[in-house]
Amino acid sequence: MFGLYYRALMASELPEQIECRQLAAGTGVLNGVLAASRLTRIEEPYRVVGAVTVELRCRPREGGGFQLDARIQAPLEARCQRCLEWTAWPVTVDMELVAHIKAPPSQDHDEEDSVELVDGMLPLREVIEDEVLLSCPLAPLHARQDCPADKSFEAPVIASDRKQPFAGLAELLKSREQE
Ligand SMILES: [Zn+2]
Repeated sequence: MFGLYYRALMASELPEQIECRQLAAGTGVLNGVLAASRLTRIEEPYRVVGAVTVELRCRPREGGGFQLDARIQAPLEARCQRCLEWTAWPVTVDMELVAHIKAPPSQDHDEEDSVELVDGMLPLREVIEDEVLLSCPLAPLHARQDCPADKSFEAPVIASDRKQPFAGLAELLKSREQE
Protein backbone atom coordinates (compact mmCIF):
# COMPACT_ATOMS: atom_id res chain seq x y z
CA MET A 1 0.00 0.00 0.00
CA PHE A 2 2.60 2.49 1.10
CA GLY A 3 4.82 1.59 -1.82
CA LEU A 4 2.11 2.38 -4.37
CA TYR A 5 1.19 5.62 -2.65
CA TYR A 6 4.80 6.68 -2.58
CA ARG A 7 5.24 5.91 -6.26
CA ALA A 8 2.13 7.91 -7.16
CA LEU A 9 3.50 10.89 -5.26
CA MET A 10 6.82 10.60 -7.04
CA ALA A 11 5.38 10.50 -10.56
CA SER A 12 6.03 13.95 -11.91
CA GLU A 13 3.57 15.98 -13.92
CA LEU A 14 4.65 16.17 -17.55
CA PRO A 15 5.23 19.56 -19.20
CA GLU A 16 2.90 20.88 -21.91
CA GLN A 17 5.78 20.74 -24.37
CA ILE A 18 9.15 19.05 -24.55
CA GLU A 19 12.29 19.92 -26.43
CA CYS A 20 13.23 16.77 -28.34
CA ARG A 21 16.84 17.75 -28.95
CA GLN A 22 17.50 18.32 -25.26
CA LEU A 23 15.75 15.10 -24.27
CA ALA A 24 17.56 13.00 -26.88
CA ALA A 25 20.91 14.49 -25.84
CA GLY A 26 20.37 13.22 -22.30
CA THR A 27 18.92 9.83 -21.37
CA GLY A 28 16.21 10.12 -24.02
CA VAL A 29 13.73 8.82 -21.47
CA LEU A 30 10.86 10.72 -19.94
CA ASN A 31 8.34 9.18 -17.57
CA GLY A 32 5.54 11.07 -15.91
CA VAL A 33 1.83 11.68 -15.64
CA LEU A 34 -0.83 14.01 -16.95
CA ALA A 35 -3.50 14.93 -14.41
CA ALA A 36 -7.02 14.09 -15.58
CA SER A 37 -7.95 17.78 -15.53
CA ARG A 38 -5.43 18.49 -18.31
CA LEU A 39 -7.18 16.27 -20.85
CA THR A 40 -10.07 18.60 -21.54
CA ARG A 41 -10.96 17.25 -24.99
CA ILE A 42 -11.98 13.85 -23.65
CA GLU A 43 -15.72 14.22 -23.22
CA GLU A 44 -18.89 12.12 -23.12
CA PRO A 45 -19.25 9.26 -23.73
CA TYR A 46 -15.81 9.13 -22.05
CA ARG A 47 -14.30 10.55 -18.90
CA VAL A 48 -10.81 10.43 -17.40
CA VAL A 49 -10.87 9.01 -13.87
CA GLY A 50 -7.19 9.21 -12.94
CA ALA A 51 -3.78 10.42 -13.98
CA VAL A 52 -2.59 9.32 -17.42
CA THR A 53 0.79 7.57 -17.25
CA VAL A 54 3.34 8.13 -20.00
CA GLU A 55 6.67 6.37 -20.60
CA LEU A 56 8.40 8.09 -23.48
CA ARG A 57 11.63 7.51 -25.38
CA CYS A 58 13.09 9.99 -27.82
CA ARG A 59 16.09 9.46 -30.09
CA PRO A 60 17.55 11.24 -33.10
CA ARG A 61 16.41 9.78 -36.38
CA GLU A 62 18.48 9.02 -39.45
CA GLY A 63 17.74 11.71 -41.98
CA GLY A 64 16.81 14.25 -39.34
CA GLY A 65 14.18 14.77 -36.74
CA PHE A 66 13.37 12.43 -33.89
CA GLN A 67 11.75 9.07 -33.32
CA LEU A 68 9.37 9.05 -30.38
CA ASP A 69 8.03 5.89 -28.79
CA ALA A 70 5.64 6.07 -25.89
CA ARG A 71 3.39 3.84 -23.89
CA ILE A 72 0.33 5.74 -22.73
CA GLN A 73 -1.98 4.32 -20.08
CA ALA A 74 -5.20 6.22 -19.52
CA PRO A 75 -7.72 5.17 -16.87
CA LEU A 76 -10.98 6.09 -18.62
CA GLU A 77 -14.62 5.29 -18.08
CA ALA A 78 -17.04 5.01 -20.98
CA ARG A 79 -20.81 5.34 -21.07
CA CYS A 80 -22.14 2.22 -22.77
CA GLN A 81 -24.33 3.38 -25.67
CA ARG A 82 -26.68 0.42 -25.21
CA CYS A 83 -27.49 0.71 -21.49
CA LEU A 84 -26.04 4.20 -20.75
CA GLU A 85 -24.19 2.93 -17.67
CA TRP A 86 -20.60 4.02 -16.99
CA THR A 87 -18.07 1.23 -17.23
CA ALA A 88 -14.31 1.01 -16.73
CA TRP A 89 -12.55 1.61 -20.05
CA PRO A 90 -8.78 1.43 -19.49
CA VAL A 91 -6.82 2.52 -22.56
CA THR A 92 -3.25 1.52 -23.38
CA VAL A 93 -1.68 3.00 -26.50
CA ASP A 94 1.76 2.29 -27.90
CA MET A 95 2.57 5.41 -29.83
CA GLU A 96 5.21 5.66 -32.55
CA LEU A 97 5.72 9.13 -33.85
CA VAL A 98 8.25 10.90 -36.04
CA ALA A 99 8.98 14.49 -35.10
CA HIS A 100 10.30 16.65 -37.93
CA ILE A 101 12.26 19.83 -37.48
CA LYS A 102 10.43 21.38 -40.42
CA ALA A 103 7.70 20.28 -42.81
CA PRO A 104 8.80 17.16 -44.70
CA PRO A 105 8.21 16.68 -48.43
CA SER A 106 4.75 15.15 -48.26
CA GLN A 107 5.49 12.17 -50.54
CA ASP A 108 8.21 10.89 -48.21
CA HIS A 109 6.09 10.44 -45.16
CA ASP A 110 2.74 9.11 -46.22
CA GLU A 111 3.06 5.92 -44.21
CA GLU A 112 4.04 7.17 -40.80
CA ASP A 113 2.54 9.24 -38.05
CA SER A 114 4.46 12.46 -37.89
CA VAL A 115 4.35 15.87 -36.30
CA GLU A 116 6.23 19.05 -37.06
CA LEU A 117 8.19 20.66 -34.28
CA VAL A 118 7.62 24.37 -33.79
CA ASP A 119 10.84 25.98 -32.56
CA GLY A 120 12.05 22.47 -31.71
CA MET A 121 9.19 21.95 -29.24
CA LEU A 122 6.81 18.99 -29.29
CA PRO A 123 3.31 19.72 -27.93
CA LEU A 124 3.43 16.65 -25.69
CA ARG A 125 0.11 16.99 -23.87
CA GLU A 126 -1.77 17.60 -27.11
CA VAL A 127 -0.13 14.64 -28.87
CA ILE A 128 -0.96 12.30 -25.98
CA GLU A 129 -4.54 13.50 -25.81
CA ASP A 130 -4.87 12.91 -29.59
CA GLU A 131 -3.59 9.35 -29.22
CA VAL A 132 -6.05 8.56 -26.44
CA LEU A 133 -8.95 10.08 -28.40
CA LEU A 134 -8.04 8.10 -31.51
CA SER A 135 -8.20 4.85 -29.58
CA CYS A 136 -11.75 5.52 -28.38
CA PRO A 137 -14.58 4.14 -30.55
CA LEU A 138 -17.41 6.59 -31.32
CA ALA A 139 -19.97 4.39 -29.63
CA PRO A 140 -18.50 2.42 -26.73
CA LEU A 141 -20.43 -0.69 -25.69
CA HIS A 142 -20.24 -3.22 -22.91
CA ALA A 143 -19.39 -6.72 -24.00
CA ARG A 144 -22.83 -8.29 -24.62
CA GLN A 145 -22.60 -10.62 -21.62
CA ASP A 146 -21.82 -7.67 -19.31
CA CYS A 147 -24.50 -5.27 -20.54
CA PRO A 148 -27.63 -4.95 -18.37
CA ALA A 149 -29.64 -3.65 -21.35
CA ASP A 150 -28.78 -6.68 -23.40
CA LYS A 151 -30.29 -8.99 -20.75
CA SER A 152 -33.53 -7.02 -20.41
CA PHE A 153 -34.35 -7.04 -24.13
CA GLU A 154 -35.07 -9.95 -26.41
CA ALA A 155 -33.04 -9.77 -29.59
CA PRO A 156 -32.26 -6.12 -30.32
CA VAL A 157 -31.86 -5.52 -34.05
CA ILE A 158 -28.32 -6.43 -35.00
CA ALA A 159 -26.71 -7.68 -38.17
CA SER A 160 -26.74 -11.35 -37.20
CA ASP A 161 -30.48 -11.25 -36.45
CA ARG A 162 -31.24 -9.61 -39.76
CA LYS A 163 -29.72 -12.55 -41.57
CA GLN A 164 -32.40 -14.91 -40.29
CA PRO A 165 -35.12 -14.09 -42.86
CA PHE A 166 -32.61 -14.60 -45.68
CA ALA A 167 -31.51 -17.92 -44.25
CA GLY A 168 -35.18 -18.94 -44.32
CA LEU A 169 -35.50 -17.77 -47.90
CA ALA A 170 -32.42 -19.77 -48.90
CA GLU A 171 -33.99 -22.88 -47.42
CA LEU A 172 -37.20 -22.19 -49.33
CA LEU A 173 -35.34 -21.73 -52.63
CA LYS A 174 -33.36 -24.89 -52.05
CA SER A 175 -36.50 -26.91 -51.41
CA ARG A 176 -38.08 -25.51 -54.60
CA GLU A 177 -35.03 -26.47 -56.62
CA GLN A 178 -35.49 -30.03 -55.50
CA GLU A 179 -39.11 -30.19 -56.68
ZN1 LIG B 1 -24.14 -1.62 -21.51
